[in-house]
Order: sequence, then structure tokens, then C-alpha cells
Amino acid sequence: MSADYTVRPMLSAAEIATRVDALAVEINSYFEPTENLIVVGLLRGSFIFIADLVRRLSLPVEVDFIEAASYGSSTQSSRQVRILKDLHTTVEGLDVLLVEDIVDTGHTLSHVLRLLATRHPNRLEVCALLSKPSRREEEIDARWIGFEIPDEFVVGYGIDYAQRNRNMPYIGAVEFA
Ligand code: 5GP
Ligand code: MG
Repeated sequence: MSADYTVRPMLSAAEIATRVDALAVEINSYFEPTENLIVVGLLRGSFIFIADLVRRLSLPVEVDFIEAASYGSSTQSSRQVRILKDLHTTVEGLDVLLVEDIVDTGHTLSHVLRLLATRHPNRLEVCALLSKPSRREEEIDARWIGFEIPDEFVVGYGIDYAQRNRNMPYIGAVEFA
């Protein structure tokens, strides 16, 4: 793919690391160290965030992944969400921490939360690295948000543009040429 866009730095690797440290401190003190915590990453955008986050958790944790895809325009409130890959784990009675890269309209996360709630976890909490509050169409009860950002298309730290840029160590806004 030709480079018909540039990336303007928004959050440095150091800023992200500092914030992930702080989130982990809060998460460590929130959950009981009862061997019941499963950290669930929403693929694919959360893979770097969840890797950094779980390495800072001092609780015993399991890790699993779920993948969802949404169809229809992002401005359509009736957008369909489909599960492409489900969990391996039975989460009944467990404390579930769902880890997401970006909460945008909120449709993806609310769909996945509704699905997981039907499986009767003991707790169901959300930790999202980024949130674009101005874009919200469905209210999301996320206990932990890394950064609130403006309505810009971002990449890096696991987050892609057309499957590229996930390996950038920082987060930046895409600027089209
Ligand atoms: P929602 O259902 O909340 O509208 O969409 C959330 C998903 O849309 C995110 O998990 C992410 O995959 C995608 N998304 C939202 N904003 C951005 C963005 O700025 N950059 C990228 N690459 N994906 C985004
Ligand atoms: Mg995502």
C-alpha cells in the first residue's frame, strides 16, 4: 500500500506505559485475589494493550480472547455485531475483565457485554484504552478508560488502518494526504 497518509503522534509510548501502570494499580486493588479473574481481550486491536496490562497485574489471571465484527456504517445506530471467535472459557461465576482498544459508538462493546452477561459471570467490568465520548450512541459502563480522545481516526499500539500500523509503539492520528 502506498503511503497516501501520515500519522501525527498523539500518545507517546511513555505516556501509554505510565497510564497502563496506573490502570493496573487500580485493577489490582479492585478485584479480590481469589483465582477467579479472567481477562478477555477483544481481538484484534487490544492484543498489545492486554499484553502490557496483564504483565502488570499481581492477581492470578486467566487470559482469553473474543473477536467481533460489526457491519453497516459507523453512523448507523442499528449496526449489526457478529461474533467471529468465541471464548474457550466458561465464564459462569468468574470475574471477567473485558479489555478493548477503543470505545467509539459503543455498539461493539454493548453487544459483547450483553452476550457475556447471559453466561452469568460473577462480575463483568470493562477496561478500554481509548474512548471517543463525542461518538457515543450506546451508553457503556466502562470502569476503566485509559484516555479520552477527540473524534479522530487513530492507529498504533495494536490498532490498525487497513491492517497496518498495529506495530507502532505509540498512538497517532491518521492524516490523509
Ligand atoms: P464501536 O462499536 O464502539 O463504534 O466501535 C469500536 C471499534 O471500532 C473499535 O474496537 C475499533 O476496532 C474500531 N475503531 C473505532 N475508532 C477507531 C479508530 O480511530 N481507529 C481504528 N483503527 N479503529 C477504530
Ligand atoms: Mg476493536
